[in-house]
Amino acid sequence: MNHYDLLLLGAGHAHLGVLRRWAMIERPPGRIGLISAGPTAWYSGMLPGLLAGRQHPADCQVELPALCRAAKVELIIQPVESLSAVQQQVQLADGQTLTASWLSLNVGAQVAAPPQQGTAMQLLAVKPFAEFLAGWQQWQAAPQPLAILGGGAAGVELALALAGQVPQLALFCAGHLLDGLSAGVRLRALGHLRQRGVWVREDCPISRIEDDCLLSGDEPVWRGQRLLLASGAQAWPWLAHSGLGGDEQGFVLIAPTLQSYTHPTIFAVGDCASLPGARKSGVYAVRQGPVLAANLNAALRGLPLRRYRPQRQSLALLATGDGGALLDWHGYSAGGQLFGRWKDYLDRGFIQRHRLSG
Ligand SMILES: Cc1cc2nc3c(=O)[nH]c(=O)nc-3n(C[C@H](O)[C@H](O)[C@H](O)COP(=O)(O)OP(=O)(O)OC[C@H]3O[C@@H](n4cnc5c(N)ncnc54)[C@H](O)[C@@H]3O)c2cc1C
Repeated sequence: MNHYDLLLLGAGHAHLGVLRRWAMIERPPGRIGLISAGPTAWYSGMLPGLLAGRQHPADCQVELPALCRAAKVELIIQPVESLSAVQQQVQLADGQTLTASWLSLNVGAQVAAPPQQGTAMQLLAVKPFAEFLAGWQQWQAAPQPLAILGGGAAGVELALALAGQVPQLALFCAGHLLDGLSAGVRLRALGHLRQRGVWVREDCPISRIEDDCLLSGDEPVWRGQRLLLASGAQAWPWLAHSGLGGDEQGFVLIAPTLQSYTHPTIFAVGDCASLPGARKSGVYAVRQGPVLAANLNAALRGLPLRRYRPQRQSLALLATGDGGALLDWHGYSAGGQLFGRWKDYLDRGFIQRHRLSG
């Protein structure tokens, strides 16, 4: 029997919140499954601390078998290979086909890479985390100059975590560093990066890779053999081909109830979804969790759905690699060890909240 009342695809931030609620409060009726690419869910907020040697891998992951047991949800550990929205059918990498009356997608996004000619430059994407960490371990064994692509929060945190671990480190961003955050936090971040010897190139979009060279337009801007990708989110190809209505980048267009506009029996949240005002960040995915839990419960019981309203502002805490953090809140910026301790406290709290046993 491969039919489910509800299938959750991906152990993203919002689905972790849904499982936690169902483990603690009553779960909706019916057969429910979670499909996850692996047995754990990595927490991105702690990745910079892990790379800086300040966290242990076990501290940065939620064990899914225990959480699913507690929520009485079947755990299916297999990557999704394709999805047919019209048939409500999921194809897994091992060849299994599952169908469901309701589906919920929280599968994140992949990292965009510039077109590459030649194989002289090795590319390592920051996601999926398990593959990234395995690749990074190999690079770490024989350090070489490194370039990071992406001047958002992830790129900056990675650069600060890795500065000092490689002989030279360059950070490229298409626009301004930390676009969307306050000018104050950008200046603080630039200060930290300069202090740690990171060469920062703003307004330098990388258009292609030719052999061991990064080009911006036709200008060669960096030579080396290792490029770490922390650039913008890109929809998974299987999602873009699922038949679900998407935005111009292939992310699922959702209504405030978190349902797909084109297929209302499919919910989508977090980075894989597109909703005006909701940014692609863990903070937004976490906040969607309670509304999603309520709406999945309502959907399975035939009750009215709630609406999610993205918060206008969100707190950003960026790890500076030395135990400290930079804070951005309502245009106000600050930095120091105290904020680093606060970030650690919040991150550890997230992991602890989802460590349930069934
Ligand atoms: C280094 C770094 C640091 C960051 N720090 C922060 C931060 O401090 N605060 C913040 O708000 N944001 C941060 N972000 C951004 C944040 O990681 C993402 O915005 C957030 O993870 C998106 O959450 P999500 O729930 O949409 O998906 P994710 O957390 O990406 O989870 C997606 C899940 O789906 C699973 N999955 C994917 N494909 C498949 C498949 N085919 N089959 C089955 N399962 C699949 C994955 O294994 C994963 O478990 C950071 C990002 C990086 C790279």
